[in-house]
Amino acid sequence: MRYSGFRVIKEALTGHKGWTPAWRSPEPKAHYDIIIIGGGGHGLATAYYLAKQFKEKSVAVLEKGWIGGGNVGRNTTIIRSNYLLDGNEPFYELSLKLWEGLEQDFNYNAMVSQRGIINLFHSDAQRDAYVRRGNAMLLNGADADLLDADQLRAECPFLNFDDARFPIKGGLAQRRGGTVRHDAVAWGYARGADSRGVDIIQNCEVTGFRIENGVCSGVETSRGFIGAEKVGCAVAGSSGRVMANAGMRLPIESHVLQAFVSEGLKPVIPGVVTFGMGHFYISQSDKGGLVFGGDIDGYNTYAQRGNLPTVEDVCEGGMAIMPMIGRARILRMWGGVMDMSMDGSPIIDKTHIDGLFFNGGWCYGGFKATPASGWCFAHLLATGQPHETATAYRFDRFQRGYMIDEKGVGAQPNLH
Ligand SMILES: Cc1cc2nc3c(=O)[nH]c(=O)nc-3n(C[C@H](O)[C@H](O)[C@H](O)COP(=O)(O)OP(=O)(O)OC[C@H]3O[C@@H](n4cnc5c(N)ncnc54)[C@H](O)[C@@H]3O)c2cc1C
Repeated sequence: MRYSGFRVIKEALTGHKGWTPAWRSPEPKAHYDIIIIGGGGHGLATAYYLAKQFKEKSVAVLEKGWIGGGNVGRNTTIIRSNYLLDGNEPFYELSLKLWEGLEQDFNYNAMVSQRGIINLFHSDAQRDAYVRRGNAMLLNGADADLLDADQLRAECPFLNFDDARFPIKGGLAQRRGGTVRHDAVAWGYARGADSRGVDIIQNCEVTGFRIENGVCSGVETSRGFIGAEKVGCAVAGSSGRVMANAGMRLPIESHVLQAFVSEGLKPVIPGVVTFGMGHFYISQSDKGGLVFGGDIDGYNTYAQRGNLPTVEDVCEGGMAIMPMIGRARILRMWGGVMDMSMDGSPIIDKTHIDGLFFNGGWCYGGFKATPASGWCFAHLLATGQPHETATAYRFDRFQRGYMIDEKGVGAQPNLH
């Protein structure tokens, strides 16, 4: 079924009796050409592009819970491509371009909203660093716009420009950045993949790999063994646990990241704003809630809930740039498990085991990467070669010293 305005009107006039389930719930087959572990954004996008771009006919996504129950449905929905380093910027720009055409492509309203993102700067040195980043973005075909304090004041009069401990001197804007309704991304990719023949199997946990003579021939699951020519793992915060079953120890730690949403308010924030002297980012959802977050809690965990010191830290960041946030009441908060890599950048690569591929290390920036991650992982699985924008995301960069340390903080996953 194609979704359209016409379809909505027709269904409204006929009692909404014609809607069909957005995807099937098939029983797992004994064997697939390609199995993707993890029905998050990245796993579903990979399956979608495998079927659509690479015409793969026998693909399954195995999800231990329900699709959208992981980080794809827990994030603060920010998309952008404002990166500095060559290893990153072309990849994230590809992702932003894919976001721009995504709703037409998979025929689903994901509420892609290019309302813009502004990174605030608070010192001359920080402005210089942002000028450099903006220039790197322009060189890679992205958009970037440096705003001085007066220009910023016209757009965001609610910011605390002069009285704050960290005066706001301007911002680096990316107008094409913005927000996307996160769970609709999972649903859209799931529907698009399913309609092209991909089996999406929920409540099917992968518990092990069948590996003989260095070749992976399938996965052990809570619903029995399922054979495959190729297996791609895209389980985000569970990467360490799942790949340990293949005997691999990853350069990844799992950490919790919290997010917060306030009661619904009248429109106040035009786009996404990020604090430059602390870790705080905020936008406003279409329902009016202020959606915000900050740093990871900073300790290793698989728990999907965080602790109060980080809540306090996030709220301090908010109060520093916009004290009026102190009047808003928080409605909900939650946590998700982050796959923090040692250099803060992801991995999309083959493993040393034939037929076993890995996608992870997205830290807390993987939502914006969803389309390009799926595209590039599908490319790798289908062709055996890395996509041209993802050639830096290799396992061996840690061995060879080719780290992609966007923040320049060193091999400290909790600092990225
Ligand atoms: C609070 C928070 C805020 C964030 N904000 C942003 C943001 O604003 N912008 C941004 O770009 N990124 C953000 N992120 C990061 C982003 O959400 C993640 O990097 C990204 O969603 C991870 O990829 P995914 O969608 O595939 O993960 P997930 O949705 O977590 O998918 C992984 C799936 O694998 C499944 N799985 C795990 N183990 C198994 C198994 N053994 N067998 C089968 N299935 C298994 C899980 O159940 C899960 O559904 C945020 C994350 C959080 C938690």
